[in-house]
Amino acid sequence: MEVLQSHRAEMISIAVALVAILGGSAYYYYLTKKPKGSHGGRLAWVQQGQMGMTSRVTLGDAEFKAKDKGVMLHSICIFSIIDVCHNIGCLDPENFKEFKLVKRTELSHNVAKFRFSLPTPTSVLGLPIGQHMSCRGKDNLGDDVIKPYTPTTLDSDIGFFELVIKMYPQGRMSHHFREMREGDYLAVKGPKGRFKYQPNQVRAFGMLAGGTGITPMFQVTSAILENPNDKTIIHLIYANVTDEDILLKEELDNLASSFPNRFSVYYVLNQPPEGWNGGVGFVTKEMIQTFCPAPAPDIQILRCGPPPMNKAMAANLDNLGYAPQMQFQF
Ligand SMILES: Cc1cc2nc3c(=O)[nH]c(=O)nc-3n(C[C@H](O)[C@H](O)[C@H](O)COP(=O)(O)OP(=O)(O)OC[C@H]3O[C@@H](n4cnc5c(N)ncnc54)[C@H](O)[C@@H]3O)c2cc1C
Repeated sequence: MEVLQSHRAEMISIAVALVAILGGSAYYYYLTKKPKGSHGGRLAWVQQGQMGMTSRVTLGDAEFKAKDKGVMLHSICIFSIIDVCHNIGCLDPENFKEFKLVKRTELSHNVAKFRFSLPTPTSVLGLPIGQHMSCRGKDNLGDDVIKPYTPTTLDSDIGFFELVIKMYPQGRMSHHFREMREGDYLAVKGPKGRFKYQPNQVRAFGMLAGGTGITPMFQVTSAILENPNDKTIIHLIYANVTDEDILLKEELDNLASSFPNRFSVYYVLNQPPEGWNGGVGFVTKEMIQTFCPAPAPDIQILRCGPPPMNKAMAANLDNLGYAPQMQFQF
């Protein structure tokens, strides 16, 4: 009986080893045959040394070196399992999940940046570019409220995500965020949204953002400019009431100076300060004509702002001859 049991244990170990080797081999084959740059994860395998005698597999900062091919295949297998887990993401489209607020930074009297930790330091949020999440909170009467928000971070930010939130005095969800303190949890569900980002899906994007409508634009812009294989050109018109209301200004200006041929931003203010050299009033047809790509099958104009602005922008775009498929509203 004992002999049988020890044989059984041996058989199980051999089966596990075989699965690991086969899995590792399959993943190695997948890595080496897949075109460079198209791998979504961070796993890398290289041969080095004389005649490729030493192999090295890396996952982010972790590294494993071996001369023995069997040992290497095992390590590839283990790393690939970690890599696959890493890329699954933490969101559930059907159920709210709780994320802990680890840092709250006040950016102005009514805007704050909220950093939430993910379950592990290597977890990613798993939100496709251009999509948003539903966040649930309580208003000042204690009633549930659910509103959409777009993180300003990407899945290349590991272990956390950030929201930049403007808190309106009468806003129901604004009340929830105003009351949130480090250590509290936020209920989040997603991903949500119809926007599907593909690198080079258009030649150029025009973007019309108002107030907090900047966050989806910022996310798409960051993803495009971060991807060396994406050549899309972006022209953003960003409208606010005063210069103090402009969100993410430093980040936007940095992107414009780092990518002068790929990204431009034109600020428009209702109440400009003295010496203001941007646009004044509401976003007009003339501003769109001057700063956005002209109607064409390979361009798209994205818009996100308060409902009256979205309505006015849709009318402007229709009048300028942008076909429905050239327009998208977040
Ligand atoms: C795709 C998407 C992504 C978004 N991402 C973000 C984000 O990252 N950060 C963020 O802060 N918001 C974002 N928003 C807006 C957000 O969903 C809420 O609409 C906003 O937080 C106000 O909600 P509230 O419940 O506090 O206000 P409500 O209770 O809905 O409104 C109360 C009052 O607040 C004022 N108010 C509300 N919304 C606006 C507005 N947009 N402009 C001017 N005044 C307004 C008005 O006076 C209004 O009467 C996003 C919206 C969409 C559609």
